[in-house]
Amino acid sequence: MSTSQYLNAVERSKAPANQQNARRDRILIVEDNPVSLTLLKQLLKAHGYEVLGTPEGLQALDLAREEQPDLILMDIRLPDISGLEVTRLLKRDDSTKTIPIIAVTALASPDYERRGLESGCDAYIPKPITLGNFLRTIEAFLKIRPVTPTSFASLTSRDGLMHSTLASASAPA
Ligand code: MN
Repeated sequence: MSTSQYLNAVERSKAPANQQNARRDRILIVEDNPVSLTLLKQLLKAHGYEVLGTPEGLQALDLAREEQPDLILMDIRLPDISGLEVTRLLKRDDSTKTIPIIAVTALASPDYERRGLESGCDAYIPKPITLGNFLRTIEAFLKIRPVTPTSFASLTSRDGLMHSTLASASAPA
C-alpha cells in the first residue's frame, strides 16, 4: 500500500470528533523506520492520542522515564539496543514497570513471541499492522492499565490479543 493510500485509509478510519479519545492518552512509539514512525504518529494523532516518538532504544528509556506515557509501542530491531532489551529495562524500573508495552515487529515467529514475552512485553502485534485490530489492541491495554500479569492474562485469554492480525488495511512494515 502506498503512503497516500495509507493516509486515505487513516482518514477513513478516523472516529467522529465527539467519539475521539477524550482523555488524551499519551503513546510512545519506538520505531527506527522514519516512514513507519511518521505514519504511526499520524494514525494515532488522528484518533485523538498524544504521541511521542523516537527511533532509538536508549532515547526510548529516557522518554519513558521522563514523560510517563500511558502505553509504549516497541519495535524490536533498533539501531542501538534491541527493543527487547529496552522492554526488559523498563519492566525492571519501578517508575516504568506498569506501562503497557506492545511489541510491534516484522520478526513474527513463535520464538520471537516467546522472547518478547520473556522480556516483559504485554502483547505482540506482527507487522504489517492492520488498522482495526491495532487500534482495538491499544485501546484495550489503555483501559486496563496499570498492567499487571493478571490483567494481561485475562485480556489475552478473553480477547485473543496476542495475535493481533486482521485483513482490513495494512501499514508499511
Ligand atoms: Mn526496526
